[in-house]
Amino acid sequence: MANPTGWKPSMEKEAAGVDAGIVGLLGATRGLVMEEPLVFEQGSPGRIGVSLPPLPAGADAASELPAALLRGEIAGMPEMSELEVVRHFTRLSQWNWGIDTGFYPLGSCTMKYNPKSSEALARLPGFAGAHPLLPTSMSQGALELMWKLERALSEIAGFPASVMSPAAGAQGELVGLMMIRAYHVARGNPRHKVLIPDTAHGTNPASAAFNGYSTVQLPSGPDGRLHPETVAKAMDDDVAAIMITNPNTLGIFESHIAEIAEIVHARGGLVYGDGANFNALVGVARPGDMGFDVMQYNLHKTFATPHGGGGPGSGPVGVAECLVPFMPLPVVVKEGESYRLVTDPAERPQTVGKVREFWGNMGMFIRAWALIRELGPEGLRRVAELAVLNANYVRAELKGHYNLPYETDTLHEVVFDDKLQKEHGVTTMDVAKRLIDHGSHPPTVYFPLVVHGALMIEPTETESKETLDQFVAAMRAIAAEASADPEALKAAPQKPFRARLDETRAARKPVLRWTPGMKVE
Ligand SMILES: *Cc1c(COP(=O)(O)O)cnc(C)c1O
Repeated sequence: MANPTGWKPSMEKEAAGVDAGIVGLLGATRGLVMEEPLVFEQGSPGRIGVSLPPLPAGADAASELPAALLRGEIAGMPEMSELEVVRHFTRLSQWNWGIDTGFYPLGSCTMKYNPKSSEALARLPGFAGAHPLLPTSMSQGALELMWKLERALSEIAGFPASVMSPAAGAQGELVGLMMIRAYHVARGNPRHKVLIPDTAHGTNPASAAFNGYSTVQLPSGPDGRLHPETVAKAMDDDVAAIMITNPNTLGIFESHIAEIAEIVHARGGLVYGDGANFNALVGVARPGDMGFDVMQYNLHKTFATPHGGGGPGSGPVGVAECLVPFMPLPVVVKEGESYRLVTDPAERPQTVGKVREFWGNMGMFIRAWALIRELGPEGLRRVAELAVLNANYVRAELKGHYNLPYETDTLHEVVFDDKLQKEHGVTTMDVAKRLIDHGSHPPTVYFPLVVHGALMIEPTETESKETLDQFVAAMRAIAAEASADPEALKAAPQKPFRARLDETRAARKPVLRWTPGMKVE
C-alpha cells in the first residue's frame, strides 16, 4: 500500500516504547490526535467567542428580551474564543470512529461503506428541503421515489407489498408483529405465543412482548441451525408466529426454512423473518419464496446508509398477501401518472394505524434507492457474493488461531470464540481491546448469546483484500500474544488516550454532569 509519510510500523514500535509486542498493522498511531481537556477546564474569564459591534449608547439588551429568557449567571460556564471552541469540537470529532475512518467489522450490524454519491443525492435541495406536510401536488417526486423503492424492495425480497414507514429494524419487527396480531384477531383469536430460536437478536422477544405475546425459546441444533423437529414439538394452535433470522446471527443459513414454514403454516401460524442479515441474500434468494410472511429490511444495513451511535435507521416491512389489509398508513399508491398518500383509515379499514410521524425516514429512502439503482440487479447479487466471500476468507485465515464453535460454512459473518485463548486466561474482551491498538474497531463481542465469549466478525462486501489481510494479521498477532504474554493483553488497549476502562464502574456510576471544580479521571 502507498505510504507517502514513510511511516513504518517498526518506527512506531520504537517511538511508543509502551507496548513492545504491538505493531500497528493498520497504521494505528496517535500522531497529531490531541489529548483534549473538558470544555469546562478551558478558556479564561471574560473571553468571548463572537465579535459584535457595541450596542448604541443608551440601549439595554436586557429590556428587549422577555425576562424568562434571561439568566443572571450560569455557574461554571466556560468562556472561550471561537477558535478554542472550534478546536475543541474538531479534536473530539477526531476521537470518533466510523466506517469513513477505518475497518469496522461489527457482526450483525453490517457497517459497510456508504457511497458518497448516495449522500450527495440525499442532500439534493428538492429532497432535503421538502416539508413532509407539503400538499401531494408539490411532493410528486418524493412520492414517486417512495413508490419505486417500495416496488423494488418488494421485488428483491419476494413480497407483494412493503410498509415503508418504520424507523428502524426493531420498529419494523414491532410493526410486523402488530400486523400478525391484527391478522389473528380478524380470524377470531390473537393466540398467545411466539416461537423464537436461541440465536435471535434481543429485539425479537422484545417485539413479541410489546405485542402481548409470550415467547418460547427454541434451542438450535449442534450445527447452529434450527431443526424442523424442534419447531414441530413446540408448534400448536396457540402459536401466533415464529420469528426467524436467516441467515441467523451465527452467520449460518437456516437451510430447513421451507420445511419449518410448512409446519408453522399447517397450524395456522405465520412466519416472521428478521431481515437484518439480508445483506447475505440480496440478489441471490428471496425470503418471500422461502415461506416468510413478513420481514423487515434494515435499509441502514443492507442498502448502505451510515448508522450507529443512534444514527438514522429505516425498517420497511415486506408482507405477504394475507397481511396487506393490515399495513400501517400512510401507503403510497400510483394512480395513472401521479402518486398519492393513503392516510385515511376509511380507505383501509383493517390498518393497524400509524406507527411514526409523517411518511418514514426519507433520507434513508433516497440513499437506498440510489444504491439499488447504482448497483442494479447484478450489482446487488455481487453485494451478497462478496459479503459472503469476505466472511469466509476471514474464517479460513483465522481458523486454528481462534476456536470455531460451529464447523459449518458461514454466509456474511463468522463467529469465533475465546476457547483457545482462555487456556492462557485471555478473554474475548482482551482480544477486542487489543484490536484497538492495531487500528481496527473490534467485532461484535459476546453476541450471539448461544456462543460463550463470541467474537462475531462481519467484514461486509465493501472491504478490500488488503484490509482483510491486515485485520487477519492483527488477529493472529493477538492470538500469539495471548500465549506468549497474556498479562500484557490485560492492559490493552495502550494507544488510545483512555486505556482500559473500568466498565462496571462506567456503567454503574456514570459521571454525566460536570460541576465546577470537579476533576474527571
Ligand atoms: C440490527 C438488528 C436488529 C435491529 O435493527 P435496528 O435497525 O438496529 O433496530 C434486529 N435483528 C438483528 C439480527 C439485527 O442485526
